[in-house]
Amino acid sequence: MKVRLLQLWILLISIIGIYYYGVLSIWVSIFLYLITNVIIGNAMLHRYYGHRSFKMKLSAEKMSRWLCHHLPMGSVIGWSAYHRLHHKHSDTELDVHSPTIQGYFHIIFGVWENKISKKVVKDLLTPELIWWHKHYFTYHITLSVVLLWLFPWCLVFVYAIPNFLNLISALLIAIVPHRSGEVSNSLMLDIVTLGEGKHNYHHKYPFDYKYGKYDLTGIFIERVLKK
Ligand SMILES: [Zn+2]
Ligand SMILES: [Zn+2]
Repeated sequence: MKVRLLQLWILLISIIGIYYYGVLSIWVSIFLYLITNVIIGNAMLHRYYGHRSFKMKLSAEKMSRWLCHHLPMGSVIGWSAYHRLHHKHSDTELDVHSPTIQGYFHIIFGVWENKISKKVVKDLLTPELIWWHKHYFTYHITLSVVLLWLFPWCLVFVYAIPNFLNLISALLIAIVPHRSGEVSNSLMLDIVTLGEGKHNYHHKYPFDYKYGKYDLTGIFIERVLKK
């Protein structure tokens, strides 16, 4: 529920901000979305924390604990728990977000009620990630207030709009490859999310950090993040 309120807050700031400042600076947000989606969303949150598909350099890992908590999909622990459950039960009654079972409305607007199972995220229960899990919303509220007070333009074009685009990307990944009731690949999704479109491959090999030779996220992991 709280995650949904945060997402609503981000949407509201985006709309009010565009109304106030105009749309010209949206290019900054699109650029930031592309970067944060590849580095934070795909590589760090999904492939590292969600699947532990590679070993990350310590300096990058330390930074990732902070960076990942800027996304509007919940804490690393919370998001990974949902995502691991999705992989375990995809397209069945137990799937936390199946478009054919719970429906599109539930995925986009509903509250995902399944309780977080600690068993699924045992490896993520470190003191620092638990701290972030507890203080995730306080951090976002504090950050929003500080930015609104000191740098309102940044609140709109650096924080809210790139985050809203990251949220759209996450929702598309939950819906598009599962819309027929079984996992499929999507070229459109691959372009929009910069590398998460080979979903069928990903469900078959969740522990592979690179989805093919031209996977931008995989290349970034290999060259920058991987130990
Ligand atoms: Zn999936
Ligand atoms: Zn996954």
